[in-house]
Amino acid sequence: MSSSFDLSGRVAVVTGANTGIGQGIAIALAKAGASIVAVGRSAMDETKAQIDAVGSTFHEVRADLDSIAPVDDIVTEAISKFGALDILVNNAGIIRRADAIDFTEADWDAVMNVNLKTAFFLSQAAARHMLPRGTGKIINIASLLSFQGGIRIPSYTASKSGLAGLTRLLACEWAGKGVNVNAIAPGYFVTNNTTALREDPDRNAAILGRIPAGRWGVPEELGGAAVFLASDAANYVHGTVLPVDGGWLAR
Ligand code: NAP
Repeated sequence: MSSSFDLSGRVAVVTGANTGIGQGIAIALAKAGASIVAVGRSAMDETKAQIDAVGSTFHEVRADLDSIAPVDDIVTEAISKFGALDILVNNAGIIRRADAIDFTEADWDAVMNVNLKTAFFLSQAAARHMLPRGTGKIINIASLLSFQGGIRIPSYTASKSGLAGLTRLLACEWAGKGVNVNAIAPGYFVTNNTTALREDPDRNAAILGRIPAGRWGVPEELGGAAVFLASDAANYVHGTVLPVDGGWLAR
C-alpha cells in the first residue's frame, strides 16, 4: 500500500550527516525510501553503513560549510549522481559558548556562517533546481533558541532566530511554486553539540528538571518529524517551525 509518507525515489541532501541529529535524520529518510547525499567535512562511514543496512542508496560529498563556496557543487553533484534533488535538510551547525560581555567577533562569524549564511545560500542553490520542477522540500534545523533567548550563546541564538525567520520568508516566496520550506526545532538532544551541558551537573539537572518528558532526546526521535516534512503528507505545510522537545516549550 502506498503511503503519503513514502519517500521512495526521492533524493535527499542532508548536511552534517556524519553524526548526531543529521545522522539520525539521514537514516530516517533512508528508511522511508530516500536516496541520501550526505554532506559534511568529516568521514561518513558510520552513516553509510547504517544506510547500506536499510537498503537505501548513499553518496558522500565532502564540503566545509563554513563558507558558501561549495553550495552549487553540492546541488550539481546530487543531481548528477541521482538525477534530481527533492529534499534538502540544512542541519550542519555549531555553537560557541561565552558570556555576551566577552563574546568575540570570530565566534560570532563562525556560527553565523555555518548556521545561517550557508543554510540560506544552499537553499537558494537547491531552489534553483526545485522551483522550475514545481516541487521540493527544504527543512531547516532550528532550535529552542529560535523562540527563546538562552544564555552564553549570543551568535547561536541570533543564528537560530534568524533561521526561523528565513524559514518563514522562503515559505512565503516559494509556497505558491510547489516548494515547502519548514523547520524542526529540536529540544535538548544527546549529541556532541550538548556534551558541555550534559557534563555540567548543575546545568544538566536544571535542564532535566524543566523538560516535561524528564529526559534528553536522542537523534532517532527527530526522524518522524523529518520524514513528515519531507513527504507528500506535508504538501500544505509551509513556514512552520515544529518543536520536537519533550514538552519544553509547553512548560
Ligand atoms: P553535532 O553532533 O555537533 O553535529 C553537527 C554537525 O554539523 C556535524 O555533522 C558537523 O560536522 C557539522 N558541521 C559543523 N560545522 C561544519 C562545517 N563547517 N562544514 C560542514 N559540516 C559542519 O551536533 P547536533 O546536535 O547533531 O547538531 C545538528 C544540528 O542540530 C545543528 O544545527 C544544531 O544547532 C541543531 N540543534 C541541536 C540540538 C541538540 O540538543 N543537540 C538542539 C537544537 C538544535 P563535524 O562532525 O565534522 O564537526
